[in-house]
Amino acid sequence: MTLRGRLTTAFLAVVLGPALLGAFFVGATVAAVSRDRSVERLDVAATTIRSSVGALCQQLHAVADAVALPATTEQRLVVADQVIARGLAAAVWVDGVTTPDAPPRPWTDCSGRTSGAFQALAVRVEMRDAAGGLLGSVEVAQVVDATFVRRLADAAGAAVTLRAGPSYSTELGRSRDAVVQAAHGVRANEIAESAPGRYVRRLDPSPGQPLPLALSVPRSEPDGIYAVLVGAVVLAGLLAVLAAWWLARSTTRPLAELGRAADRVADGDLAARVPVRARDEVGRLAAAFNRMTRETQSYVRALTASRDQLRNHLAVLGDTLSSTHDLHRILQVILQTALAATGARAGVVLLLDPATNTLVAQCAEGLEDANVKVPVGSGLLGTVAATGEPLRGRVDRDGPPLLDEEPHCRTYVAVPFAGPTLGADLDPPAVGVLALYDRLGLDEFDDADLVTLRTFAGQAAVAVDNVRVHEEAQRLSLTDPLTGLWNYRYLKESVRREVERASRFGRMLAVLALDLDRFKEVNDTHGHAAGDAVLTEFARRVRAEVREVDLAFRQGGEEFVVLLPETDAHGGTIVAQRLGAAVRGTPIPYGDGSIAVSVSIGIAVYPDHGVTGAQVLDAADDALYAAKAAGRDTYRIAAGGKRPMAQEMPVPAGAAPPDDDLPRAGGASPGTHPPRQTRGR
Ligand code: GH3
Ligand code: MG
Ligand code: MG
Repeated sequence: MTLRGRLTTAFLAVVLGPALLGAFFVGATVAAVSRDRSVERLDVAATTIRSSVGALCQQLHAVADAVALPATTEQRLVVADQVIARGLAAAVWVDGVTTPDAPPRPWTDCSGRTSGAFQALAVRVEMRDAAGGLLGSVEVAQVVDATFVRRLADAAGAAVTLRAGPSYSTELGRSRDAVVQAAHGVRANEIAESAPGRYVRRLDPSPGQPLPLALSVPRSEPDGIYAVLVGAVVLAGLLAVLAAWWLARSTTRPLAELGRAADRVADGDLAARVPVRARDEVGRLAAAFNRMTRETQSYVRALTASRDQLRNHLAVLGDTLSSTHDLHRILQVILQTALAATGARAGVVLLLDPATNTLVAQCAEGLEDANVKVPVGSGLLGTVAATGEPLRGRVDRDGPPLLDEEPHCRTYVAVPFAGPTLGADLDPPAVGVLALYDRLGLDEFDDADLVTLRTFAGQAAVAVDNVRVHEEAQRLSLTDPLTGLWNYRYLKESVRREVERASRFGRMLAVLALDLDRFKEVNDTHGHAAGDAVLTEFARRVRAEVREVDLAFRQGGEEFVVLLPETDAHGGTIVAQRLGAAVRGTPIPYGDGSIAVSVSIGIAVYPDHGVTGAQVLDAADDALYAAKAAGRDTYRIAAGGKRPMAQEMPVPAGAAPPDDDLPRAGGASPGTHPPRQTRGR
């Protein structure tokens, strides 16, 4: 059953119950009052009739005395005629003689001793002598007819019915029979109800009133009282139904609207609102519902917007992480995404510079001065890096005081990050710090922000590590593992690049091809490991003899190439001499002894001996063969050059490197360390 149905039923029960009960009581009271009034009227009517009939009997008695007074019958008859003429009696009987027009005898005696035929009411007087002997008697009568009964009824104020004899009645037809019947059913002076709605009182003969009568009055309640009552109840019922319908509707309608709106909200339609119809409890509920959905809607909008923004940032981050090894760019995108995710005003990513043990800003957002440098161990950022523990809070309340060189802020969250491979045994434990400042809306950063920032810091760590691994892999793929010099692959690329550069700037490029002499014998005599040691030491000496801008390659086996940018044949000759001397002069120590080696060198120059890298290399090779052919431990310049060939100038054994203007450096990479053999992963 619906709430509306229950309310309607309850209201109807509350209203209709009392209405029906009230109607019942009114009806019952009206009936009781009506009966009481009728009984009262009938009592009064009975008394009136007794006294009227009694008065009539007394009058008849007086008339009878007057008629009996004369001495003779004739005289008595004369008096009788006079009283009849004067209307004091209807008939007189004197000593057996009856006046004319008298009703038939026997007459009903006022004393009630004789019942008669109830056609006349009479009083009998006897005349006796002194001894008590009967001298004669007189009877005086009044007619009992319809007129008499009507006069009684008029005096009594009730309908009167003579129950015996001629049965005169002021009631009519069936009504009279019903009254007579009702009077028969009860005892004397009792009240009965007769069919057409009348109260009947039975009045039996008594001394002074010898007539058997029935008095009746109509029920005295107002006409149509019950119809009015039923009408009133029906009207009340109708009004109650209407009121109940209105009440239930006005009560349940806002609730139904609320229910429908709640359904819509549950289905995801946050634009649902309900009309506020009144300032009652339901109205307040509706207003609260509207406020709740409005705030939820704006909250969801803001959330959706920030989610979309974050999604964009994450997409950019994903693209950046997968498409570039530009560490600065990656850290910048990570920082921007972290700012978007937490709603911070500013932020900075710093990496540890191990040389100075200082954190150096790699990128910054929202800061006036992006060049942040903080020593590890001091200030907020330095503390985070030194302890490896993240910090968050308010500057004026928690945490270490800010250094002057740190960004100024009100609230902060700073998370350290360590490379998963590089940071394992580092001291301090962090390789960098990711810090955000001043969350917009003046809230402090919370634990959720800290967790978010840890995620981004983890990504920064992975990015740093990836970039380093990438750099290392790059380096390894271009270097020779035994000697640490650049490999053949890089040689081809470098020759092409250096030739192109020399051609663009109109410079020269000297190419030296080197081959250790009789190296097979070294292997055969001392073993392959000794050969490797010789190769490694030779490479180290080559690197030591050339400039930083020069490039040394192991082409394969015991063959090497050195590129000397911006160097002509003369310069190349000098370097060749120096290299020859560096090898020849100092035997290479191995085991308990040492191994003496020498090198043959061919020299070619761009653009004198070739216009492409390959041509110049070939020319240098040819020159190398020439040097071999000339007896080894010497150098040759490629044939066909525009300049005169350099003299063959074997450098004497043990000679020191010539004092020229060429710096000693060069090799595989700016970092001249040998490549790592194991990386621990
Ligand atoms: P020459 O050049 O003076 O004519 O004589 P050679 O003995 O050096 O002759 P060749 O160039 O034909 O021989 C090169 C030898 O170098 C062959 C090989 O045993 C040795 N060799 C090549 N690569 C390596 C290496 O990586 N390690 C060692 N230990 N030996 C190598
Ligand atoms: Mg060789
Ligand atoms: Mg050789």
